[in-house]
Amino acid sequence: MSTSQSGSPVDPNGTSIADVLVVGAGIAGLLAAHRLVDAGHSVIVVDKGRGVGGRLATRRMGEGVFDHGAQFFTSSEPAFAAEVARWEAAGVVEQWFDTRLEPDGSVVPDGHPRWRGSTGMTAIAKHLAIGLDVRTSTRLASLQVDTDDSGDSWRAIVDDGTELRAGAVLLTAPIPQTLDLLAAGGVMLDRAEREELESASYHPCLAVMALLDGPSGLPEPGALRPGGEPLDWVADNQRKGISPVPSLTVHAGPATSRAMWDAPDAEVIATLLGAVPGLAASPVADGVQVQRWRFARPDVGLEGFTRKISGLPPAVLAGDIFDGSRVPGAAASGWAAAELLLSLI
Ligand SMILES: Cc1cc2nc3c(=O)[nH]c(=O)nc-3n(C[C@H](O)[C@H](O)[C@H](O)COP(=O)(O)OP(=O)(O)OC[C@H]3O[C@@H](n4cnc5c(N)ncnc54)[C@H](O)[C@@H]3O)c2cc1C
Repeated sequence: MSTSQSGSPVDPNGTSIADVLVVGAGIAGLLAAHRLVDAGHSVIVVDKGRGVGGRLATRRMGEGVFDHGAQFFTSSEPAFAAEVARWEAAGVVEQWFDTRLEPDGSVVPDGHPRWRGSTGMTAIAKHLAIGLDVRTSTRLASLQVDTDDSGDSWRAIVDDGTELRAGAVLLTAPIPQTLDLLAAGGVMLDRAEREELESASYHPCLAVMALLDGPSGLPEPGALRPGGEPLDWVADNQRKGISPVPSLTVHAGPATSRAMWDAPDAEVIATLLGAVPGLAASPVADGVQVQRWRFARPDVGLEGFTRKISGLPPAVLAGDIFDGSRVPGAAASGWAAAELLLSLI
């Protein structure tokens, strides 16, 4: 047995081996991985994205910086608030605003901080990835169960044909993607468990990012929350404090996102930018992009914080489908899944 560059053991075929394979380097997977590493386990985290963060997503376009997934988060739950305080002390997050944005554009002070990544939401994931064995641009094609003399374990096949092996898996991809991974590996789930997981569903979200030729004119705090159709959310990333130039993120509501999912980008852009109230600037040429989030937020969620899949080598599920569809819920789910897994391995 030798070790890979990242320190994980590799078998004679060059396959990396870990106690736990975490699928997904979003908030749930990264926080779970830290718990498992702190408990003394070897952990490999894989993500199909080019970077870490999942739906904590920040993109550059020209001079502009855009948060195009999660926009901000709150921190009312004590364990999460303590984590956020550590991020704040490390300079990773800053408070953006502490008001409730009403659909009619009014702003109601409520004293609850809304946090953003100091350089964008991805900053949080980049911070959490430090010290972990995280492998990005690593899309799993299937997960299968291996049986040999030492018992059952997991074999993950990456879409470039390489393999990873682990005694246990912690799965944080959106549930339909997790079910696909297991089905592709021939893993049969208990019928009731499968049916429950199949009941989970997500809203899509069309996001438009636009570099502007001048100040957006959005009111304080540089964001609007229409919270409906066609627009769910509008933010000026410069006013938010993460972009040196005016750069707008617009999110469509779920019904509009469904209706326009297959529409050409130009139509999505015209519809969404045309619906922004009081926009005081225009997009610059070649400065507009569309992001299609197929699994943006839970529509029908699952009860509790995590699930164990029965009848298999240890496998637990985490993510925002549990506990409330947002960043704090995904964090709580990641921690709960790690604790559950620790009781199984
Ligand atoms: C447009 C939008 C706006 C939002 N706004 C807010 C907001 O303002 N406030 C808030 O609190 N929340 C918001 N959310 C929700 C928030 O982003 C999520 O709840 C949270 O980030 C989910 O984290 P997660 O770890 O559960 O999942 P994810 O971040 O989705 O992580 C799962 C990871 O699994 C990876 N993966 C999937 N399949 C594979 C595979 N086969 N192989 C390898 N890796 C794989 C994915 O690449 C992904 O990185 C928003 C989400 C969207 C999309």
